[in-house]
Amino acid sequence: MSDEERALIAAELRERLGWMASLTDVGLPRESVGAAPPPGAAVSRPVEAVAPAVPAPARVAAVVAPAPARVAAPAASAPTRLAAPEPTPARKPAKSALPEWAAPNPSAEPSPVPTAGEPEERLKALVDWIGNCQRCALAPTRNKIVYGQGNLRAEIMFVGEAPGADEDEQGLAFVGRAGQLLTDIIEKGLKVPRSEVFIANVIKCRPPQNRNPETAEILACQPFLEQQIDIIRPKVLVGLGKFSGQWLLKTAEPISRIRGRFGEYKGIPVMPTFHPAYLLRNPSAKKDVWEDLKLVLRHLGRSA
Ligand code: SF4
Repeated sequence: MSDEERALIAAELRERLGWMASLTDVGLPRESVGAAPPPGAAVSRPVEAVAPAVPAPARVAAVVAPAPARVAAPAASAPTRLAAPEPTPARKPAKSALPEWAAPNPSAEPSPVPTAGEPEERLKALVDWIGNCQRCALAPTRNKIVYGQGNLRAEIMFVGEAPGADEDEQGLAFVGRAGQLLTDIIEKGLKVPRSEVFIANVIKCRPPQNRNPETAEILACQPFLEQQIDIIRPKVLVGLGKFSGQWLLKTAEPISRIRGRFGEYKGIPVMPTFHPAYLLRNPSAKKDVWEDLKLVLRHLGRSA
């Protein structure tokens, strides 16, 4: 053999050794890649000698089963998702508990007032039903029951809180100073005669010293107001002050928050606004009442 032939063989051996080594360098058994060993098995023996003796199944699994790697990827990202802040829940509006006196009274006695017929007949049945009412603690101190008065076919019905001293004396709703202011609001603001509207209160007897009505008193008296509203069936109810606005709308929200927006009582639009007695103490609030009543006029299709 010439020197030239020996050099060619040595070069071929070096090339094959380098190929075999490249496979084991990346951890791949030659069998796993389906690589046919180059001709001359004897040439490959030195390579097997340098490669670590790893059991074939384990190494094959590492290659042909890429799933663990893919499974591992999401697992690695899981902590990121867990660490992400929870979405902030939508802010719910604060909800106050409904005052007991504004809730339906489950123990109310059934009404004997006819559910249909002329308003005059139904109102007479209501007054008969009220009778010399002793149903709450206000009976012993009252002078007169103040049923309310006005047009039984009114488009607008005003509902106040309770009779005061003048009302208790005369048996008529809103006849004192606050009543005079209400008359101005109706006749100068709404431009209708007071006799065209109906005016009533949540309770029909005066609380001593004009204190706030108590829950038991309102619950005892509320069937009468419910019947009055049902008889008159106005196009709009105007709630004057806290007790009326909250009772009509069945809410605990303060009058300052519910005024100026229509609510609803049994399908009838309700506009809550400030009580005339409050306006006597806070004349600057008159403009708010006027804004509320302009909405009432607009609802009735009338101009302010
Ligand atoms: S306030 Fe109403 S329930 Fe109480 S005594 Fe007068 S009418 Fe009767």
